[in-house]
Amino acid sequence: MKPIHLEIKGRAPGFPCPVCKESGTARTTEEISRTLRRLYYRCSNILCGHTWTAHLSFEGTLSPSRFGMPRVPLPMIDLELIKPANDDTPPDESGPEAA
Ligand SMILES: [Zn+2]
Repeated sequence: MKPIHLEIKGRAPGFPCPVCKESGTARTTEEISRTLRRLYYRCSNILCGHTWTAHLSFEGTLSPSRFGMPRVPLPMIDLELIKPANDDTPPDESGPEAA
């Protein structure tokens, strides 16, 4: 099946240029599967000119849809394993690295 190119509606996740670290902008996306997209990025630094691809993938379901679940396997996420991005709790130092 040929991938479908989709316009970006709204704001795609930012991705700094891995070469010069200036901001990168997603120009288009390609649907690889229902749970995987390829994003095409362009560096905002015109002197750099780097373009690259990145993947945006489905990780897991937090709460099942009220529309029912598709036939695609969509794993559930264990919420105990997810920390908020602003979690300032110091890391647990009782692990094997502290020994
Ligand atoms: Zn760049």
